Amino acid sequence: MINPIFDKETLSNLEQTLKEANNIVIISHKSPDGDAVGSSIALQQYLEKKGLVSSVILPDKAPSFLNWMNGIDDIIIFDKQRKEVIDKLYHADVIFTLDFNDQLRVGNDMGKYLINSPAIKIMIDHHQAPKDYANYMFSDVKSCSTAQLIYEYIEANDDIELIDIPIAESIYTGIVTDSGSFRFSSTTPKTHEIASKLLEKGLDQSLIHESIYDVNTQDRLNLLGYTLNEKLEILEGGTVAIISLTRDEMLKFNTQKGYTEGFVNYALSILGVQIGIFVKEDEHLVKLSFRSKRDIPVNEFAKTFFEGGGHINAAGGRSDLSVLETIDKIKNHIGIFVKDNV
Ligand code: 5GP
Ligand code: MN
Repeated sequence: MINPIFDKETLSNLEQTLKEANNIVIISHKSPDGDAVGSSIALQQYLEKKGLVSSVILPDKAPSFLNWMNGIDDIIIFDKQRKEVIDKLYHADVIFTLDFNDQLRVGNDMGKYLINSPAIKIMIDHHQAPKDYANYMFSDVKSCSTAQLIYEYIEANDDIELIDIPIAESIYTGIVTDSGSFRFSSTTPKTHEIASKLLEKGLDQSLIHESIYDVNTQDRLNLLGYTLNEKLEILEGGTVAIISLTRDEMLKFNTQKGYTEGFVNYALSILGVQIGIFVKEDEHLVKLSFRSKRDIPVNEFAKTFFEGGGHINAAGGRSDLSVLETIDKIKNHIGIFVKDNV
């Protein structure tokens, strides 16, 4: 079944828009994850098959566990190539914004240039509560990933045969990383159907899983061990688990970018825990990650108390308080989100 967000008339208008464009840019969000990178590269390579040249821009570097991806080295990074990015955003006719739906998700600095760009904007995204900035808005908050939406865009264009192994790998990576390896409730029969079609293209899924998940360093495992041994707090009668790390602690373990990715899931994985929280001290602020089970809306908690948002079961936010003060603030407010019988 074709995803109804990609209706024929809109797609044909978009095709015309793309044909007339000289400069097409694809961008995704700050701290890009597997879905941000996978969907961007897949779209770029698909457009190339249609004879359309585009540039992929990210606010900052992708985590190293994605280094194996075909096309990763061609991505332009705002943090490193600032002038080139500003120039590209200024001269773009069309900008695809993938895996986010609020222009400031590329960061306040790059966000200014994105907001001011006169380009036609095309949102393809699966996050809740999209902002109304795009000329074409393909938003499906039920979708497990933006990568799935890229597949469905290609499918709606009747172009499945253009998907080659590198495109299949990128889409698969986005789906796997954003669906928790097909376990989150956002995983639908359609997700599995797409995975099946991608496998038929000949990708090596076992190698992809290994490339994504079996890439720990000893430092990262030591950091994880320390976090779970020393920094885990269980509250609210065993229903809330908080872990936290300060910059000093991370420095001690030679922490690299991406090391703490997924730590919050360990907090959530404890029997009886309904909400898992990770509080991390960044350079100028404290970042928070929230995860929950069943229908507990951590995005509402993030939005109400920590200027954040996200999905029902996976959200993020920020705090200008210290790590300890942030944890206190969580403790003061989290109780009402916990359920009696889960
Ligand atoms: P993570 O905990 O992996 O950083 O983020 C989980 C999800 O929360 C992301 O997929 C994203 O949708 C959302 N998220 C993270 N940080 C923010 C934020 O500062 N603002 C909003 N609106 N959403 C966020
Ligand atoms: Mn995503």
